[in-house]
Amino acid sequence: MAGLDEKLLGIYDEVLHRNPGEIEFHQAVHEVLMSLGPVVAKHPEYADSAVIRRLCEPERQIIFRVPWVDDNGAVQINRGFRVEFNSALGPYKGGLRFHPSVYLGIIKFLGYEQIFKNALTGMPIGGGKGGSDFDPKGRSDGEIMRFCQAFMTELYRHLGEYTDVPAGDIGVGGREIGYLFGQYKRITNRYESGVLTGKGLTWGGSQVRTEATGYGTVFFVEEILRTRHDSFDGKRVVVSGSGNVAVYAIEKVQQLGGTVVACSDSGGYIVDEKGIDLDLLKDVKEVRRARISEYVEARGDAATYVAGRSVWNVPCDVALPCATQNELNGSDATTLIRNGCAIVAEGANMPCTPEAVQFFTDAGVTFAPGKAANAGGVATSALEMQQNASRDSWTFEHTEQRLADIMRGIHDRCLETAEEYGSPGNYVAGANIAGFTQVADAMLALGV
Ligand code: GLU
Repeated sequence: MAGLDEKLLGIYDEVLHRNPGEIEFHQAVHEVLMSLGPVVAKHPEYADSAVIRRLCEPERQIIFRVPWVDDNGAVQINRGFRVEFNSALGPYKGGLRFHPSVYLGIIKFLGYEQIFKNALTGMPIGGGKGGSDFDPKGRSDGEIMRFCQAFMTELYRHLGEYTDVPAGDIGVGGREIGYLFGQYKRITNRYESGVLTGKGLTWGGSQVRTEATGYGTVFFVEEILRTRHDSFDGKRVVVSGSGNVAVYAIEKVQQLGGTVVACSDSGGYIVDEKGIDLDLLKDVKEVRRARISEYVEARGDAATYVAGRSVWNVPCDVALPCATQNELNGSDATTLIRNGCAIVAEGANMPCTPEAVQFFTDAGVTFAPGKAANAGGVATSALEMQQNASRDSWTFEHTEQRLADIMRGIHDRCLETAEEYGSPGNYVAGANIAGFTQVADAMLALGV
């Protein structure tokens, strides 16, 4: 594969052979290895000590059967996963994704990303990820509860506040975390609040956790803008997706004076030139759990719905992909560049294809990778663990300030590291190298 030096190419080949068919995992590994050339040149001990090879092999991978009974009384079988990737910095930490596309390769890519993202937050958390190929779409509340209970009936034995601490991701929000936590408590007879994050505010959750990924992504962009003495004021922003990350990214952009003119779901996108009506969007997506096209039905002539096309056709200054992996391809990047987009920040995990990232870089568009830009979610999970450990709960203002400080810290560290390793202004190099060196140093210190 072009662009990797000999040692790194050997490591990548080994990953390909050990993990056949896991294309998202290959992509995530390749993306990190591409940044590590200057690191192994400066510090050959990283390559010589096999620390990179060790980092590419999960410490533990759990795959299990999840049998549950649907509303018709029929037994359904799904597959559950938890990949405990790396615990050099703390207990495995990372969300659970419930989506029909889930298989081992997706969980491994997400777990791998999580290692570096979690390191960048500066909090004591290792990397992991889990989930299931269960499709929550169209399922009743009772079915969701029974599925979550069945899932936890196996998973609980692998968890613990000092061992592995899951949270939400696509398809897993506050409702699911509630059912999962309830089952954990029932089985273990322990009110172990720190074993899951994303809990409700009345039973151990943290203020700002719901908002954190979206808010954090926007704080990160605010820092980018600050370096060029600019702000969100008057900026035109397009967000993809309309789930938890997208909704709270939209909210924070609006609070900071920008206008979000479009967002999407898997069926199409909406354009609302005066700015998305957030109360209406929340009602459609969070209360009614409906398709985004219902937004336009309620809004009348002010908004339009475009089915089956890419939201990246809508011109903007700032693009925030907040839907899912590989949703923004080379052709979308070309359109965004042609329309004058200046900043792209990933609210989702790996939403831009490698080709799209290359096009942005070549065109001088500032690109903030997910492992830095969307780290606010997991960082606030770590703040939730901190509150649980001290049996305390903080105010919204205090927690949001902590989040903003953490995002500024990640931003600055990316820039400083990129500069140190000869790629000034390159957030991809900065994030990968800063995350890597922190984990690798801990692994070296802890021995083989
Ligand atoms: N799923 C989120 C992420 O991709 C959050 C994980 C967590 O809070 O543990 O980072």
